[in-house]
Amino acid sequence: MFRALRFVIIAALILVLVWWIASIPGTFTAHSGKITVTTSVPFAIFLWLIIAALVTILLRVIGGLRRAPGGITRWRGGRRKQLGEAATQRGIVALSAGDAKAAEIEAQRAKKLLGETPLVLLLTAESARLAGKPDEAKTAFEKLTQDKTMAFLGHRGLLRHHAAAGDHDAADLHAAKAESAYPGAAWLKTQRFGLAIKKQDFSTALGHTTSKPEIAALATGAARAATTDRDALAYAKQAIKADPTLAPAAVTYAAILRKLKRNRAAKKSLLNAWKILPHPDIAAAYLENVTTPIERAQAAADLAKAKPGHPESELILAQTSLDAKLTGEAKRHAEAAIAAGLTDKRPYAVLAALDEPNAKAALAAAMQPVWSCTACFTAHDTWSPACPNCAKPGTLIWKTAQSKALAAA
Ligand SMILES: [Zn+2]
Repeated sequence: MFRALRFVIIAALILVLVWWIASIPGTFTAHSGKITVTTSVPFAIFLWLIIAALVTILLRVIGGLRRAPGGITRWRGGRRKQLGEAATQRGIVALSAGDAKAAEIEAQRAKKLLGETPLVLLLTAESARLAGKPDEAKTAFEKLTQDKTMAFLGHRGLLRHHAAAGDHDAADLHAAKAESAYPGAAWLKTQRFGLAIKKQDFSTALGHTTSKPEIAALATGAARAATTDRDALAYAKQAIKADPTLAPAAVTYAAILRKLKRNRAAKKSLLNAWKILPHPDIAAAYLENVTTPIERAQAAADLAKAKPGHPESELILAQTSLDAKLTGEAKRHAEAAIAAGLTDKRPYAVLAALDEPNAKAALAAAMQPVWSCTACFTAHDTWSPACPNCAKPGTLIWKTAQSKALAAA
């Protein structure tokens, strides 16, 4: 209704205007050289209006043409972006599929189309890593750390790079930077735990675990590495509390007490550990400062009394009796150890030294007790806080023929 009214008013105004122009009297004359054009004023006004309209249209067209190249660039830019994004997506899929070559090709294509955007850098880095080109990966990860939102991924890549190269200090530095880029990341906690163990920084590793066997092993390692006696004692106590059956923890605790001239306390702690679970390392520590064979046999008898009849008690009695030339006792205790199920090399070595029949053959056939990793199943002669093979903490357990027999029973 309103639009119709507006149309009628405008039409009326134009009509009035045209009528007014048409009614203007007089003539209009234009000279150009010898040509003279004479027309009425209304016609000249209409002509002028037509020329003005044509010029306006012409200017519009020229302006449009001038803007057109920008338009084409914009259109081409949009197309490049689309192609670049598609290449990035294909690269990510290739990465997930483990196709290093395809991922690399797509990464290069995406880089050409989009430049070094954070996502392209990540794709470049990960595909180079997958293709076994660590230096290229490192360069891309370094660039990625400059991006505020993707910095975590850059540091994560560099952490893995340095850890794989065995540079644990550099890896640790990137772990700290990744932590500040993304505080509290669960993945990072596992990494820092593993890094601390690889660096043998057991006190730091301790802060990353709540597992009792891990605490016992790591605290023992921390106690051994502690720079002050106070710290050493505190860590050793923590280790024994977490796992009273862990012989290296008890032995470490006793060694610290001895260093502090607390010999009685050291002896008591070893006796206590033997009572809980006898182990040859505890016996060795108990007999450490006892020099003469007779005194050693007597000390072994004291220790054995803490856990009478245990095969390890019988074994230490057999071994010290042999050294003290108490051959009858040595044979009796070695046989008692075997009867109790301890059939590794140690009791047979005592019997072989006594020239007992068949003892040498049995010694050759028997197993050597070892520290065995529960995670990777490798055997080690000495205990360490983390497995030297797989670097898992608290996985080494003492394995003798007796423990095998008990497991089979
Ligand atoms: Zn292992």
